[in-house]
Amino acid sequence: MPFGMIQDFAESGVMPHTAELISQGTFRIMRSSVPEISSVAWSSVITGKNPGQHGIFGFTDLFPGSYKMRFPNFDDLKAPPFWDQWEGQSVIINVPSTYPVSQMNGVLISGFVSIEFEKSVHPKSLVPYLKRLDYRLDVDSQKAHSSMELFLEDLDKTLNARIQAYRYLWDSSNWQTFMLVFTATDRLMHFLWNAYEDAGHKYHNIFLEHFGKIDRTIGEVAGKISDEDLLIIHSDHGFERLDHDVYINYLLMQEGFLQLKDTQNIALDNIDHRTKAFALDPARIYLNQKGMYPCGTVDQAEGREILNQLEKLFSSLRINGRRVIRDIYRKEQLYTGPYIENAPDIVLVGAEGFNLRANIKAEKLSDKGIFDGKHTQDTAFLITRGLSNTAIVPDIPAISDIRAIVEKNRALS
Ligand SMILES: [Zn+2]
Repeated sequence: MPFGMIQDFAESGVMPHTAELISQGTFRIMRSSVPEISSVAWSSVITGKNPGQHGIFGFTDLFPGSYKMRFPNFDDLKAPPFWDQWEGQSVIINVPSTYPVSQMNGVLISGFVSIEFEKSVHPKSLVPYLKRLDYRLDVDSQKAHSSMELFLEDLDKTLNARIQAYRYLWDSSNWQTFMLVFTATDRLMHFLWNAYEDAGHKYHNIFLEHFGKIDRTIGEVAGKISDEDLLIIHSDHGFERLDHDVYINYLLMQEGFLQLKDTQNIALDNIDHRTKAFALDPARIYLNQKGMYPCGTVDQAEGREILNQLEKLFSSLRINGRRVIRDIYRKEQLYTGPYIENAPDIVLVGAEGFNLRANIKAEKLSDKGIFDGKHTQDTAFLITRGLSNTAIVPDIPAISDIRAIVEKNRALS
């Protein structure tokens, strides 16, 4: 959820409980991770580290020494989550990229991408209860492709079961830290951003009501805690209207940076030795380095030259006269730590309305798919309340600061 939307809903009465918390606490715009996607953002929240330290750079990665795609999961997280380092029990519900769950002090129900239910719940003894609740690990987004009605029904059932699960665990365990994540909002904004902007849209009221229900849950939580407690509410990235999907690997192919052995097999593992660079989702650019990849030929000196050429290409890219790429980051600007060698060489952040994707199979530079909404890097939000409202928060916090904000303010209590 973006800063502007929560401000809007607080003022218009869609989220009155949140409005009250904003008036009592500290409300800030926050920077998300780069790239601004859930796996990277939440890994940064729970570890307090940047991707160079926690090792999660995206939803996808490559097996070492190959172009073969893999999907990093919780086992790949290289820095400990806070619940393994803080005292007392924690209840952690629906944090993305915490699958498969592992032994911990308390309760952990993983968020997307979770595959098998049994491996998504710690302790296992909770599985029968959650199944009785019809608890869903994620919304079935496939439904939106065939029926928006069925998708919205699924979205609501997912939210309801999540709320039921939180209520039960709030009362039934002796916790010190409680973390509850709502992720159906992301699905809703991807498919129906227009329903937010357009008050005459068929699903406008359903859209608002989803946030209204979350707001009532926030009010319920706020009513249960004491002044001694620290309450933090935040998003993992912002959102805005999507005008164009833009395919970075298509661009790299058109410009000769990415070449395949034959055109029959459009896939990363068919990369030819003439390839200088390729992209992984959403817009992570990797040099085809000698010694690192099977067909890698780019050495250090050439790499510097290619990075300069790519920067020129990306900064001059226009669609309908509009600049497509807002920010071009070299890895050294974004990441520090022992895993920086696995980092992309360049990460791009799209300009307003431009949704960047790698998509090697794209047949044109840009089009507009089913999504109406896209993530944003710089409009996440953070609300804190507690300790007589004197929580110490940086002016523009980064998402990896959240853990330190909690630790600092806990130490004050
Ligand atoms: Zn999303």
